[in-house]
Amino acid sequence: MTSPPGKPSSVFLASAFAFLALPPLPPLTAQEDHHAHTGIYHGPTVLRAARLLDVETGEMHTDAVIVVEDGIITAVNPDPVPDVMHDMDLGDVTLLPGFIDAHTHLAGEISAASFTDAVTRTEAYGAINAVRFGAVTVRAGFTTVRDFGGDVTVELGKAVERGDIVAPRVIPSRYPLGITGGHCDVTGFAPGIRERGPEEGVADGPWEVVRAVRYQIKHGAKVIKTCATAGVLSMEGPVGAQQYSLEELTAMVDEAARHGIKVAAHAHGSEGILAAVRAGVASIEHGSILTDEIMDLMIEKGTYLVPTTYLADHIPLDQLPPHMRTKAEEILPQMRVSLQRAIDRGVPIAFGTDAAVFPHGENAGEFEIYVGMGMSELDALRTATIHAADLLGTPDRGSLAAGMLADIIAVPGNPLDDIAVTKDVQFVMLGGRVIKHVMGGRDMHAGGH
Ligand SMILES: [Zn+2]
Repeated sequence: MTSPPGKPSSVFLASAFAFLALPPLPPLTAQEDHHAHTGIYHGPTVLRAARLLDVETGEMHTDAVIVVEDGIITAVNPDPVPDVMHDMDLGDVTLLPGFIDAHTHLAGEISAASFTDAVTRTEAYGAINAVRFGAVTVRAGFTTVRDFGGDVTVELGKAVERGDIVAPRVIPSRYPLGITGGHCDVTGFAPGIRERGPEEGVADGPWEVVRAVRYQIKHGAKVIKTCATAGVLSMEGPVGAQQYSLEELTAMVDEAARHGIKVAAHAHGSEGILAAVRAGVASIEHGSILTDEIMDLMIEKGTYLVPTTYLADHIPLDQLPPHMRTKAEEILPQMRVSLQRAIDRGVPIAFGTDAAVFPHGENAGEFEIYVGMGMSELDALRTATIHAADLLGTPDRGSLAAGMLADIIAVPGNPLDDIAVTKDVQFVMLGGRVIKHVMGGRDMHAGGH
């Protein structure tokens, strides 16, 4: 479809700006200037595309239209289509709700040096990383993340909501809760170096755990992350060992629930996973060794598995210290087997990647893993939309319907025929603001912010 006759097309205007770099552009009007800086249009915007997927019903609409105003979707496929100033035809693409990654670490990225970051870097380093990796992530189509990254990603989320920077919306955990010397502590250094207490999430015993929960929430946590078992990228072991007791996990979940907040539990080994599910956590992160008993309890309680399986093929093993490499080589193949069994058995799955353990921006690679294990393309898309929105407790996103946030992306072709198109996002709107729009192989918004 094209713009209504007589109306200037925003597509055309954007192209004109791109090719008129010299000689200098005439002075912008106030309205155009505002758009140039923020990507926000005044008044309603009409988005047109060849297709739109309703992820709830599975219905694929053709010649689709979405109307957006003040950062909210006001109509989907209205008849008649309102006659508005800003009418964009995105062409042969499929409109989807912005994706949600329920497990990221935007403040860092793995490298041979990252294992000493805790004693060589400041939080300012993490903050600068988060701005850079946040931009990469949102341009990959992930408009919301649940991020585990201390004060840095609490502040990142606030900056995004203010409109100061281009990054995903953030559901932050602040510091993850863990036992002294466990996976969520800083390990591998001499006594006295970077020791942590409840304020930074290291807490032992139910009452200290309760204090740690309260302190994270006081300073901005919208989810509590915990390490229920040992992990790969830390010096303790064995990798699957249970770290928090059922009593501690129950105290944590109960205290968080009093604030209306859910708990996400990193867990590899089956004893720790079972304790976390019994305690009532909302999600098991990684879930490397799942038994039938655990999977049935997860189905019964509605506990999500957040698989983080793309990383298994992309973690840079040669950069890991030997002890961590051994743990990775032991647990990652088991994680894949468990995910296959969870898909076959019908365990609820929410999309999550652990981005930082592989390069940020490759998040959509996780979809192909699910589809490769027999999940339908539609159900794979649901893990990163309606299911992730349910896990995060954010009913204002995850589908394209009137009243939802205008977090909208477009992929080429039809993702129900080829899930790999999710790795080639062509258009991203965040809260009504266009932050990516690829035309002729070129992102018209790449220079901004
Ligand atoms: Zn993680």
